[in-house]
Amino acid sequence: MSPAREHRPLHALSFDVEEYFQVANLRAQFPREGWDAVPSRLSIGMDRILSALDRAGAGATFFFLGWIAERHPALVRRCIAAGHEVASHGYDHAFLQDLGRAGLEEDLARTEAALASAGAPFPRGFRASTFTLTRSTWWAFDVLAERGYRYDSSVHPVRHPDYGVPDFDPGISRVETGSGRTIVEFPVTTAVDTSASFPASSPAPRSRSSSAAASPGSSTSTRGSSIPISRALRPRRGSASATT
Ligand SMILES: [Zn+2]
Repeated sequence: MSPAREHRPLHALSFDVEEYFQVANLRAQFPREGWDAVPSRLSIGMDRILSALDRAGAGATFFFLGWIAERHPALVRRCIAAGHEVASHGYDHAFLQDLGRAGLEEDLARTEAALASAGAPFPRGFRASTFTLTRSTWWAFDVLAERGYRYDSSVHPVRHPDYGVPDFDPGISRVETGSGRTIVEFPVTTAVDTSASFPASSPAPRSRSSSAAASPGSSTSTRGSSIPISRALRPRRGSASATT
């Protein structure tokens, strides 16, 4: 392997699979108990994403809500058939701080069952709703590792009023859990300026990106180079990063 090829960055691309009415910012407009009455628009985005990935010969990780997997099992199977990774985004987009430890265990089990019913293997990875794995919900790493998850991709190394671990290493790292286990963290990709980190999907003041990870909008320009996160589980430190 040539040195140039050896140091080629990996593009671990990921998407959260949820309905527009499930996002945190629209909770007031779409209460949880009314979700089943809201028309689905999921296929609009998913059809386009899956087609774009297919044209590019690229792979990705899809973090499914259990609620979605129960109602759209064919979509889970379609992702798997196309060679993508299906992982867990929790059952119904609850925040970790609201679930608590026991609640997360229940939420994960329910999501695992939904994914299994849809034909997916046990998920290797997890992404918390709205990046709510923070210093105050660090116990979530213990729960995930104990249940057999290999990686998490929930930490957002930015300063934000609702989430974020600003001092977290933006590269890939191993997190030691309280029970002595380890789990790999693929933090959400950030672009680093001289003074702060920014979500990579937002415009940074200057183009001093800390990594070459693709954003969903640019992934098709790097033909064939994006991969599911699980395929990057054992890279050298900092050689890949996850993008949502
Ligand atoms: Zn989400």
